[in-house]
Amino acid sequence: MSHDKELLFRYLDQTRELYGNNLFIDAKTEMNSVQYVDSLESFRESICRCKKCSLGNTRTNFVFGVGNPHADIVFVGEAPGEKEDLIGEPFVGRAGKLLDNILKAIDLNREDIYICNVLKCRPPLNRDPLPDEVDLCEPYLKTQLSMINPKLIVALGRVSACTILKTKESLKNLRNRIFKYEEIDLLVTYHPAALLRNPNYKKPTWEDFQLIRDKYLIHN
Ligand code: URA
Repeated sequence: MSHDKELLFRYLDQTRELYGNNLFIDAKTEMNSVQYVDSLESFRESICRCKKCSLGNTRTNFVFGVGNPHADIVFVGEAPGEKEDLIGEPFVGRAGKLLDNILKAIDLNREDIYICNVLKCRPPLNRDPLPDEVDLCEPYLKTQLSMINPKLIVALGRVSACTILKTKESLKNLRNRIFKYEEIDLLVTYHPAALLRNPNYKKPTWEDFQLIRDKYLIHN
């Protein structure tokens, strides 16, 4: 995390300790950053009771996303699974533990990045998202990404990538290419759950994460 961000976070923590959730700022304080932190949470609060599609009736928890609201990198999965639905956080199951380990290998942890999914609610029995569910939920992702404004989005897995990029290409063809999503760079890599099923994907995934490290982290 940059020194400026660290200072801003410390300032916000101290302010919260002193004044609770009321934010008092002087004219010199970076207005944009301060409003930013507040607004991602306000945005979550404003959509977390969503019933626009039928998943709103079957979910246990709305899984908005977690991590650093100022992150340079946002990882986007497909949809919450069973554990995520129960806990209300993305990537908390076995695939999530593996993702944590891969992140660690390029010196990142969850506090450095942001993680969310295309769909915010679990599809029953973990089936693939339906097109109308994606159409209704994707505006939430777009707003979330525009608020975080990262340098890079990493789509985890083919369903996430194809949904975001509106393509039917194979994951193999989508790797190693820099796309744009709402003006932000986007890379595609394997979903960690795929690595658990097929260890052959580990090597290409490691190459993808090295590219992420070398192109988007090394100069920070
Ligand atoms: N798989 C996903 O795509 N997202 C999660 O949050 C968990 C598993």
